Amino acid sequence: MRPACSFARYFIRKSIHRFQRRNLLTLAIETSCDDTSVAILEKHQNGAASLHFHSKITSDNRSYKGVHPLVAHESHQQVLASLINEALRSLPISTTSAAPEHTVFVRNQHGGETKRKPDFITVTRGPGMRAGLITGVDTAKGLAVAWQIPFLGVNHMAAHAITPRMVSALEFESKESSDTLEATPAFPFLSLLVSGGHTMLVHSRGLCDHEILANTMDIAIGDMIDKSSLQILPANIIENAGSVSYGPLLEQYAFSNLGSENESESAGSENGLQSSIENPSWTFKKPLMNPGPEGLKVFEGAFSFSGTGSQAQRFMAQNPEMPHSERRLLAREVMRIAFEHLASRVITALKRDGMERIKTLVVSGGVASNQFLKQVIRKTLDSNGHKEKRLVFPPVKFCTDNAAMIAWVGIEMWEAGYRTHWDAMALRKWAIDPRADDGGILGVGGWDTNCKIL
Ligand code: AMP
Ligand code: ZN
Repeated sequence: MRPACSFARYFIRKSIHRFQRRNLLTLAIETSCDDTSVAILEKHQNGAASLHFHSKITSDNRSYKGVHPLVAHESHQQVLASLINEALRSLPISTTSAAPEHTVFVRNQHGGETKRKPDFITVTRGPGMRAGLITGVDTAKGLAVAWQIPFLGVNHMAAHAITPRMVSALEFESKESSDTLEATPAFPFLSLLVSGGHTMLVHSRGLCDHEILANTMDIAIGDMIDKSSLQILPANIIENAGSVSYGPLLEQYAFSNLGSENESESAGSENGLQSSIENPSWTFKKPLMNPGPEGLKVFEGAFSFSGTGSQAQRFMAQNPEMPHSERRLLAREVMRIAFEHLASRVITALKRDGMERIKTLVVSGGVASNQFLKQVIRKTLDSNGHKEKRLVFPPVKFCTDNAAMIAWVGIEMWEAGYRTHWDAMALRKWAIDPRADDGGILGVGGWDTNCKIL
């Protein structure tokens, strides 16, 4: 057994060691769409991460049945400052020996506390809705100037793509290991980004190098699901919805009451979707199946969802009194068609040269919380000889828009040496692929070239 004095020495050594090792601390702001989110994230020297604060407020767009840019903008303006104010209370307590320039006094009902000042502010610079982005970027600049610390304007889609790396760092913390963690998945990996605004299959080779292998030609999958839900879901479900993200309600409706209406299949059953309803009055056409002048090949790098959405709307318009059992079948068909379409592009991509190196497919964005999507992707991979590919679905709270993922990409960019210049502006459009017209993440202006050779 270790004697008491040796224990004391051990703890003093340990705390000195801890103090000498510098952890990175950032406060992050996300305002690119209808969610106002703030996070405080710390990355420790061993690679683990701690999320000290994470909160978001979604603007109420229900009367518009979809995100209205003005409503979203006003909500960012109303709630961002108080969210940041609340976040400051969760900053780690400052050590007594910390220099005043590394501390910030945060008021509370008992007076206040001296906290550790973040090392830098991270903010979503784009892509997204311009007004919301400007609210976030200007607030970030204001905080950074007042605190005399740098700020980093990061790409929202890159943040979605590397979210699982943050999740691995957060999980590592709970293990309290003294080993060093390399965040996973390691580059390269494939990501399907499936949200209300985007549908992309991305080959992530590095922090700033994401090649887009397939992108939507028309609307995003989440947008199609929301629009179809408005038609398929019974009116009372829409009226009582808590937000305009109707996807979870459609999923719940589609797979509820199975069995009670003589529908014996479940989401996990072998064929999953065959129904006891014989000969429904409708059949869906699969997307992008009619060869164009250059044949089917031109579509390999493309998704299309608007056709599936308009077919669903047409079927409902033709039969507005459609019974529940048939509506449920229709809801499942919409999802099946869209999810199999996603999966087909993954399989095509995996046939490309060099893809043997890919061990992981990440599926993120709001739609990734759909359990049926998980089944379709896994099943398609398995039946096409990719049983060994790892599928990663980040937890739902990190799949939808959130400031934690913005903080994490900020920390990875910071560690790689990138800094943003004060003159950087919000970017409504900002590609993540260096081959894009704007040059991708590093192609746009606003990077502080004194800090990093770009
Ligand atoms: P995001 O744009 O990443 O915030 O995600 C929001 C989008 O994801 C909306 O279009 C939602 O309807 C959709 N979504 C969220 N959960 C689900 C789900 N369980 N099934 C289908 N779509 C979903
Ligand atoms: Zn997003």
